[in-house]
Amino acid sequence: MTVYIARPLPGTVGESRRVVHVFPLSAEGLAPERLTAYCGATFGRGELELLERPVGMPCVTCLRLAPTPGDAARQAIER
Ligand SMILES: [Zn+2]
Repeated sequence: MTVYIARPLPGTVGESRRVVHVFPLSAEGLAPERLTAYCGATFGRGELELLERPVGMPCVTCLRLAPTPGDAARQAIER
């Protein structure tokens, strides 16, 4: 499964909650109105900053729940 990483945009949540979440990339790509991270946090499309590589704090719950070592986010984090 393809995953991608994103974090809330500045101003949508408190700075301490701007952690990098991992999201499953569904068949529709980024089309859904609401995007649900592995940890259960949901965001509207306009609330997220998509990241090509992790910056700042990762969401620990997402890291634990996201599929398999070898997924894109984890590889990127270990880089
Ligand atoms: Zn998360």
